[in-house]
Order: sequence, then C-alpha cells, then structure tokens
Amino acid sequence: MKTPLSTLHLRRATSLAEALTILRDEPRTPVAGATDVYVQLNFGTHPATRFLDIWACDELRSISVRDDTLVLGALATYTAMLASHAVAARLPMMREAARQVGGPQIQNRGTVGGNIANGSPAGDSLPVLAAADAVVVLRSHADERRIPLTAFYTGYRTTVMRSDELIVAVEVPRVTGRQFFRKVGTRAAQAISKIVVAAVRDGSSARIAVGSVAPTVVRLRETERALAASASLDDAMAALRAEIRPIDDIRSTAEYRLKVTENVVRRFWLASI
Ligand SMILES: Cc1cc2nc3c(=O)[nH]c(=O)nc-3n(C[C@H](O)[C@H](O)[C@H](O)COP(=O)(O)OP(=O)(O)OC[C@H]3O[C@@H](n4cnc5c(N)ncnc54)[C@H](O)[C@@H]3O)c2cc1C
Repeated sequence: MKTPLSTLHLRRATSLAEALTILRDEPRTPVAGATDVYVQLNFGTHPATRFLDIWACDELRSISVRDDTLVLGALATYTAMLASHAVAARLPMMREAARQVGGPQIQNRGTVGGNIANGSPAGDSLPVLAAADAVVVLRSHADERRIPLTAFYTGYRTTVMRSDELIVAVEVPRVTGRQFFRKVGTRAAQAISKIVVAAVRDGSSARIAVGSVAPTVVRLRETERALAASASLDDAMAALRAEIRPIDDIRSTAEYRLKVTENVVRRFWLASI
C-alpha cells in the first residue's frame, strides 16, 4: 500500500555542512534524485518516515580529475556523466551504463551516489565501479573514510555506511586497458537488468564485475585469475560457473543468467584481444 505522504517529514539541506550536522543530530534517510525512494514510497516498502533532501548540496555535484583520479560527486546524474569529457575519456564503460539507465527523466534525476547507496544488485553503475576498483568516499560531521566499492556491501542492500554518513563522492583511479559494458534486459530502455557485466582487459589481465547474479555486485576473481594464468577460455568459463550462483526471480531464471553471463564474458574476452 502507498505510504501516506502525511506521515512523512522532510528537511532540506542547502550545503554539505548543514546536511552532516542534521545527520549528526537526528537519524534521517537522505534523498538525492528520489528515483528509487519515490518508487519505494509508492509501493509502501520504504520503512523510513523522516527524510533529508540533499539535492541542493551543490558541492556534491561536480565531476573532476584530481591526482590522476576521476572524482564523481555523489549527486552527479547520469545526464551529467553523459555530458562529461572526463567520463568519456577515462571511463567509457560508465558512459555506456549511464546511456542505458532508464529514460531521460531518470537520467536527469538519478545520481551515482543514489545508485551506490540503494545497493540493488541490478544497479547499472555498480559493476562499472567494481571493475574499475573505485573507492566510495563517506563523510560524517566528524570524519571521512574511503571504502573500496567491493568492500562497501555487506549483503543484499546492506552496506558499511553509518546513519550519520553520506556518500560524498566515488573515486576512480586511472583505468588502463579496454573497457566493456553490457546490460541484458527485456528491452533497452526502462528495463531493470537481468544481468549486467562491466570489464577491463589490459593485456592478459582482466577485471570483471557482474550485477544481478548474487545479493551484491561481484568481482569474478577466480575467472580473472584463470584468464591471467592463460587457462583456456573453456577452463576460465568453468571457473566462472563455479563462482556465481544466480537466483530465479520474476525477471529471469538462474539458468538463463548463468548462461548469458558466460556468453557475455566470452564475448568480452574475444572482442578485446
Ligand atoms: C523508471 C525507472 C527506471 C530506472 N532504471 C534504472 C536502470 O536502468 N538502471 C539502474 O541502475 N537504476 C535504474 N533505476 C533506479 C534509480 O534511478 C537509480 O538507482 C538512481 O541512480 C538512484 O539515484 P537517486 O539519486 O534517485 O537515489 P534516491 O532515490 O534519492 O536514493 C536512493 C537510496 O540512496 C540513498 N542515498 C542517495 N544519495 C545518497 C548519498 N549521497 N549518501 C547516502 N545515501 C544516499 C537514499 O537514502 C536511498 O536509500 C530506475 C528507476 C526508475 C524509477
């Protein structure tokens, strides 16, 4: 049942400092573009009633390169990432992911910080960030800490983030090698992924991350090791089959997800020689 709006309480912060002070003093659920939060309120599945709107915290919106690291502010939208020369030059797989997220309305409002914090295993930016060894920057009123994206999730939609913290940015070190992104869904726009693969090949080494095949985004470390050790592609695919356990759900079957993940990873490896 839809959550009645009259039961909700919203505060707006106009700067990061104000937002962090509010979160220090009272627990509130942050709202950025609201594209996930509104859906959850509409289905009555969001447990929170007290929210903090951070959309006006402009310090979190920038996309920049610092010390050879691409820094995506938490409020960077898919539209902003699509327009960014730095993203196009350094992280084309993110550009490809952003292009395929929802439709223009969602791309205009949806943010990378929201995608990370929401933690859906089907989130399209997450395999990109996992394959790129990205680091999530968390800040509270008291301190700042950096957590590799691959260590950020503790389970299905649970993270190491504390209630007084915000994601302020995600840092992506320079990626060398050819980048690859493939989303498989029922149709190109507005469809949630059945599986999503992001990968980088640099000579004989690969970094491969997959979404929608486990409770969290996963790096295929065993498959990566097999490819780096010059195992045959068939042997590497045996490693892949052993390290993911996709689930059956309303969007797809486990068998389909496993087969398609294998096909996509094969295609990535053969196409990126
Ligand atoms: C029609 C439609 C299509 C969609 N298509 C796709 C798709 O193709 N691919 C895809 O991956 N997603 C898709 N989504 C989901 C959604 O748009 C994305 O996950 C988006 O990136 C969420 O960003 P947001 O700013 O709107 O998050 P919000 O809804 O504002 O927040 C989501 C969660 O993150 C938390 N949060 C937000 N920002 C921060 C922060 N800075 N620090 C800490 N916590 C924070 C909130 O508390 C909330 O729990 C779709 C959604 C809709 C409605």
